[in-house]
Amino acid sequence: MTERYDVVVVGGGHNGLVAAAYLARAGKSVLVLERLGRVGGAAVSATPFPGVGARLSRYSYLVSLLPTAIVRDLGLRIALRSRAVSSYTPVERHGRPTGLLVERDPGEATAASFRELTGSDDEFTRWMSWYSSLSAMAQAVAPTMLGPVPSRAAFRSLVAGAAGDRLWEQVFEQPIGTAIEETFADDVVRGVVATDALIGTHTSLRSPSLLGNRCFLYHLIGDGTGEWRVPVGGMGAVTGELARVALQAGAVLRTSATVSRVDADGAVAEVSYVADDTERTVTTSYVLSGVAPAVLDGLRGRVATPPAGSQLKINMLLSRLPRLRSGVDPRQAFAGTLHLDESYAELESAYQSSVSGVVPDPMPGEMYCHTLTDDSIVDGELHTLTLFGLHAPASLFAGDNAGRRADLCARYLAGLNRHLAEPIEDCLATDEDGRHCIEARTPLDLQDELAMPGGHIFHGDLDWPFSDEGGGWGVETDVPNLFLCGSGARRAGGVSGIGGHNAAQAVLAATT
Ligand SMILES: Cc1cc2nc3c(=O)[nH]c(=O)nc-3n(C[C@H](O)[C@H](O)[C@H](O)COP(=O)(O)OP(=O)(O)OC[C@H]3O[C@@H](n4cnc5c(N)ncnc54)[C@H](O)[C@@H]3O)c2cc1C
Repeated sequence: MTERYDVVVVGGGHNGLVAAAYLARAGKSVLVLERLGRVGGAAVSATPFPGVGARLSRYSYLVSLLPTAIVRDLGLRIALRSRAVSSYTPVERHGRPTGLLVERDPGEATAASFRELTGSDDEFTRWMSWYSSLSAMAQAVAPTMLGPVPSRAAFRSLVAGAAGDRLWEQVFEQPIGTAIEETFADDVVRGVVATDALIGTHTSLRSPSLLGNRCFLYHLIGDGTGEWRVPVGGMGAVTGELARVALQAGAVLRTSATVSRVDADGAVAEVSYVADDTERTVTTSYVLSGVAPAVLDGLRGRVATPPAGSQLKINMLLSRLPRLRSGVDPRQAFAGTLHLDESYAELESAYQSSVSGVVPDPMPGEMYCHTLTDDSIVDGELHTLTLFGLHAPASLFAGDNAGRRADLCARYLAGLNRHLAEPIEDCLATDEDGRHCIEARTPLDLQDELAMPGGHIFHGDLDWPFSDEGGGWGVETDVPNLFLCGSGARRAGGVSGIGGHNAAQAVLAATT
């Protein structure tokens, strides 16, 4: 007998779970099909080091984009904890190691740090003014993420009303690099601002494509504050809660079930999947795709154009935090985002190298220590340290993924060591076999493990949170009973649940 559900969700990433939870709570019968033996996709915790009690957020690690409204609607028992420090950037100035500290709420220590680095208060004053405008914009536009897609004109009047026409032009109409170069004078300060435009996004800050602008926007507006917080218990705690509420509402979560075909004609749909070496077909009224759009194309028998990711993620476990050459307390330096070789000029030069197939030197990246904010993920006195390297496109790893992984990992560690008073290798914990606790993931690794095409962490380049005319939920496809619910939907990149929420609303709008 053929199984039948009201809705079949392809892919049990966090977005698929959000969609399943909303729909099951609305009374729909829902089946989630996930190829891996666990749900959560890139939002999971893992214990990668044998014999060591540490539950690392293996892929994604910080939460900003998840709206409080989703947490409240679904009754998620999760805690997101603020980091005391926003960022620290170790640099060499006038032959002397120093650094730029930005507190979460910039105060006297931040002002003093800007003064020491730049020689005046001007950059700090400009910083406060720039981020105050962005904060006003974030508050104004964040609520639109969970509603129908606004028109460009409506979105523009929200931004201009809250933060002025100039900010609209700077963020939405000209390359983000132009605004950064006009607003700030110091190369390091410019770089700290610019990194938000480049996370998981391979572009020049001066690109007229405005791809960096879109990445910048989403990194600044999450839940109306843009603050990146630490999920207590790790990313696995977030996914665990999503799975709990989806199951409690009656959704069926089937793992180790690989979808092989999706057919939807607008009225009914069939989804075929392989589980226990057997192919099965389930019929349904609606299919929600939580997999990347390029994966969905393949499942529909269409030619897929995969995107390309551009980052290297390194997870480390330390027996102690390393001392820095600048003399800053490592508990302060690593508590927020530690920027590594991310001055504006270095970021641009790294992009230009990587786009020509040359490994950048130095490799820019950013680091953070989860355990300084939440030590519940380790047993004993250990610290986690995560490095998210930029401008490491999938193409750099083609042909020799393992060799390039090792090479780039070594380069990133060398970059870090230039700012340390002791090599990071001396601080690494060891596993039960005496091996250093360190692992790295290239875009090709992500493609293999998570079925993220090209290792693109957002399933594809980010789109604006509005469209020319507005309307719809940003999840529609060419077929009325097939919706995107994953990161590839408009507004849905990152750990946000927004794709899942909006796809569920699209189904509910069509059926009630
Ligand atoms: C290294 C890394 C670091 C990141 N850091 C952050 C961060 O700190 N903060 C943040 O907000 N975002 C971060 N991101 C991005 C974020 O993790 C993703 O955008 C988000 O998790 C995507 O969620 P999703 O549910 O849309 O898709 P996914 O998590 O990709 O889930 C899709 C699911 O579909 C499954 N699937 C694929 N093909 C099939 C098939 N044929 N049949 C059945 N199932 C299938 C996959 O196994 C997967 O479980 C990071 C991502 C990575 C990789």
